[in-house]
Amino acid sequence: MERTYIKDVKTNAGKTVSLSGFAQTIRKQGGIAFLILRDITGTVQTLVLKSNAVAFQAVQDLSIESVVTITGLSKENTQAPNGIEVLIDTLEILSQAEPELPIPVDEKGESETNLDTRLDWRYLDLRKERNTLVFKVWSLMDKVFTDYLSEKGFIQIHSPKLMAAASESGAELFEVKYFDRKAYLAQSPQFYKQMAMAAGFEKVFEIGPVFRADPSFTSRHNTEFTGYDLELSFIKDHHDVMDVEESTIVEIITQIKKVYGDQIKSVFKRDLPIPSSRFPRIPFAEAKEILKGMGIKNEKPADLSPEEEKGIGEYAKEKFGSEFVFIVDYPFKGRAFYSMKYDNSDLSKTFDLLWNGLEITSGAQREHRYENLKQNIKEKGVDEESVRDYVNYFRYGCPPHGGLGAGPSRMIMKMLGLDNIREATYIYRGVKRLTP
Ligand code: ATP
Repeated sequence: MERTYIKDVKTNAGKTVSLSGFAQTIRKQGGIAFLILRDITGTVQTLVLKSNAVAFQAVQDLSIESVVTITGLSKENTQAPNGIEVLIDTLEILSQAEPELPIPVDEKGESETNLDTRLDWRYLDLRKERNTLVFKVWSLMDKVFTDYLSEKGFIQIHSPKLMAAASESGAELFEVKYFDRKAYLAQSPQFYKQMAMAAGFEKVFEIGPVFRADPSFTSRHNTEFTGYDLELSFIKDHHDVMDVEESTIVEIITQIKKVYGDQIKSVFKRDLPIPSSRFPRIPFAEAKEILKGMGIKNEKPADLSPEEEKGIGEYAKEKFGSEFVFIVDYPFKGRAFYSMKYDNSDLSKTFDLLWNGLEITSGAQREHRYENLKQNIKEKGVDEESVRDYVNYFRYGCPPHGGLGAGPSRMIMKMLGLDNIREATYIYRGVKRLTP
């Protein structure tokens, strides 16, 4: 018999259905045994009467989280959750679970179990509706990001993750043994997406792994994470890049709200607002003044500290009613050598995007002028030899261009109101965690 997904049981009322999934809870009440069955589409109450002796016994012998297939009649019942239940005819055990679960699976709301223990048993932790929803939303976000940019003429690239040299600072590099020499894991696709600009691709994007040997233990850093990157040519300045990001994010949230808005509201208690298409853009120097006025300490003259990000996030919410805020025109001192400087200024054509007080993106117009780039390299004290291949991209014609790198795990955190990036990462990698 063909399988019916649990979400479709109701539309099959009056028919015999075959369901497969996990035995979430089992309860006996007089001559009836109840089994709540769960598949990836939801849960449903099933029940078996004592008169069906074989199935009745089988349900009682079943351990929770075992995997079963049942057949039975789908029937409406106003007493049952969601007004529907299935009267079991046959039950087949596909995989019996051991009776003692290391962590509970059937939990409503936030788990009481400590996060580290949950990560040890990630495959059990991920069975919860709350967690499957995180990755259904992420999957749709990837799709909208891909479709939206593809429709706008962006070409998807897959750049290598094994590198001969660093693309950002040397400090956060993972070194790997590469035959008889050393290689490094890519900290970003920065150089390769810019190479696509020199190659005349004009607009590219990539969704791929990013590695950072960052020895921090924060709730917003992974040592391996997924990056969203894009780069586009023939821009006027970094505002053109921000325009693309803005409209992409509005599209992502609109589509996610359409499909998962109700579930997000019920599970995460968040009525996801669709942002207006113009996010506020505050110059870095002005942001520092605002923060000073708010009494928040200025700890990093060329960047914002996490406290400052939070503060300016609150300001944007209050002043503009916006969960998003771009901070623009950072001091060149605090940005990468490939960022473009304003003429006769120590500021750069750069930006960060914050969502509810957390940085989710860094972007910039890049320096495409060969001589200026060499000057930047000198000024920053970058080892010229290590960036020789990169600098060569700009010798034979390269359009003005810019782009950004965003962190989808941080976007999911802020979209769903999660406290920790570990909750928004399928399998987390951190300083002390290389398993499961
Ligand atoms: P932060 O200052 O928060 O450490 P960063 O300035 O190092 O971030 P970028 O190198 O500009 O970040 O990376 C672009 C985006 O990638 C960030 O805005 C963020 O969304 C994401 N990102 C950066 N580092 C991490 C990390 N360690 N774990 C998860 N996401 C990250």
